[in-house]
Amino acid sequence: MLIKRPKGTQDLIPSQIHKWKTVEGIVSQTAEQFGFKEIRTPVFEDTSLYVRSVGDTSDVVTKEMYTVSSKGDDSFTLRPEGTAGVIRAMLENGIMNEGFPQKVYYVIPCYRHEKPQAGRYREFRQFGVEMVGSASPYADAEIILLAASVLDGCGLDNVELHLNSIGCPECRSNYRDALKRYFEPHRSELCQTCNERLDKNPMRLLDCKSPICKNIAKDAPIITDYLCDDCREHFEKLQKILDGYEIKYALDPKIVRGLDYYTRTVFEFISNDIGAQGTVCGGGRYDGLIGELGGQSAPALGFGMGLERLILTMEAAGCEFEEPKTPDLYIAPMGERAQEKSALLCDAVRRAGYAAEFDIIGRGLKPQMRYADKIGAKFVVVLGDNELDSGEAKLKNMRTGAETPVVLEDFLTVFSSALINEVFENGLGDEIADAVTESLGGEE
Ligand code: ATP
Ligand code: MG
Repeated sequence: MLIKRPKGTQDLIPSQIHKWKTVEGIVSQTAEQFGFKEIRTPVFEDTSLYVRSVGDTSDVVTKEMYTVSSKGDDSFTLRPEGTAGVIRAMLENGIMNEGFPQKVYYVIPCYRHEKPQAGRYREFRQFGVEMVGSASPYADAEIILLAASVLDGCGLDNVELHLNSIGCPECRSNYRDALKRYFEPHRSELCQTCNERLDKNPMRLLDCKSPICKNIAKDAPIITDYLCDDCREHFEKLQKILDGYEIKYALDPKIVRGLDYYTRTVFEFISNDIGAQGTVCGGGRYDGLIGELGGQSAPALGFGMGLERLILTMEAAGCEFEEPKTPDLYIAPMGERAQEKSALLCDAVRRAGYAAEFDIIGRGLKPQMRYADKIGAKFVVVLGDNELDSGEAKLKNMRTGAETPVVLEDFLTVFSSALINEVFENGLGDEIADAVTESLGGEE
């Protein structure tokens, strides 16, 4: 019997990989355009890192961690999210001492033991950014604008930004008391987890996914009524900046984010096109985290964007993905002598920087031509005894069917000029025309 992949994981197979390359290209290009540099950290970290940063009342820590014990007493956990490990790495490598702001991004697999369903997996991929060193609302606006630019670059204009402020620890302590007073009479109706949350961290109640708890939470007091003057001012300024960028948002007091370390600004980008798991991106400010992890306290913020949900949203919206590159040349040898020659010719063509293949199975001409068609080769050259004896072959353009005679000794020269012509006529020409139109400010 074949062994199956673990529940909640996915294989990103060759026929789908262009979608991943498309979004990975867009996210890293956009992040770099905003001045963020890539960082890569281990897939597993000390379990205590997540307990301390994500928080011991969060779903992630209480239910979803993949914790492994290795030899000895060490306890490691597969990365459930990006922020904790990245901040740890920035502290450990002294990056915080190199001046502010520090801006990093990452594209990483994450692991959470959840109930698999559409848009929710046990291994999933996240694009994330972290920015350290600015308390200004312009920093909040920068990362929101970055997320919005990624969505825009993906061709999505239907993902809604929900915005809230959850204040600082001071505003929150009054708010917590108000929540306790509100929820206490409903204690027996709340789910088991929310019962515990009510004692330990009542704000988490607002993040519960159970319909019953959600319904009770409908009329709960809202945090924005409890903000201190500084937090209110910060939030109002952020809204003004976003208005200036003409970014649309909905104020949503129910957005509290699942992770403990958030302060002030929190936001989510939500798609209505991919079912219940519609949050494509979630983030906010976490001014308390770095101090919590033992560093010299510094304001910081970031977001995580789920790439599976991003791709699902793009598919639902009919967005285009970059087509995979097709080979420039397929060489079809007929017979053993021709195969030897084909191997060397293919090598020369590749060394010149082109993508080329030749037959390595020993098939007849017909199946070879079908294969060349299937892989989308731009040109084909057939080599048989006749071609080898005469030193001349025909270079076939697979799109137009046109054949150009080619002296094998000059193959590279003839082939490269034919390819340049083809690329210009089919595609590049249009691309240049589009670029010119766009730079002149015209519509397509
Ligand atoms: P949710 O409320 O959907 O459980 P979350 O609050 O746990 O999300 P975050 O920790 O903020 O999510 O992670 C950031 C993003 O990563 C989410 O907005 C989502 O796009 C994605 N994500 C989180 N968990 C999963 C998962 N199990 N499978 C796929 N994507 C996920
Ligand atoms: Mg979750």
